[in-house]
Amino acid sequence: MEDCVFCKIRKRELPSTTLYKDDDMMIIKDINPQAKVHLIAIPNTHVPYIDMMTEEGINVLAKIISKISHCQEELGITNGYRLVVNQGEDGGQTVGHVHIHILGGEKLKDF
Ligand code: AMP
Ligand code: ZN
Repeated sequence: MEDCVFCKIRKRELPSTTLYKDDDMMIIKDINPQAKVHLIAIPNTHVPYIDMMTEEGINVLAKIISKISHCQEELGITNGYRLVVNQGEDGGQTVGHVHIHILGGEKLKDF
């Protein structure tokens, strides 16, 4: 989508530190990290909210979660990590393009 920050990053219209990219998604560093390692995995297809995803989109999310588990070394999260998806206003979602937060690199606080 035209005004979407993550679509702009994918099209290289905005800068980012990209750690991984394939036909389904990219993994970038979060610009405002909430943990020692804070990455965002972003499916290429623009869907605003996780509750709008089709089965195809959910399958991509499953692939992403699998990929993360196989790339722990490269991502710096070998001692464990937390995956977070925010949905809508109460969930604290600020970017309307589904994404998975990857947090780790240190012992995370309980929530
Ligand atoms: P959420 O609040 O779940 O929608 O998460 C959006 C995340 O995107 C936040 O953690 C922001 O810090 C992050 N973010 C926003 N703009 C950028 C950007 N240009 N590059 C990297 N991360 C960004
Ligand atoms: Zn988008």
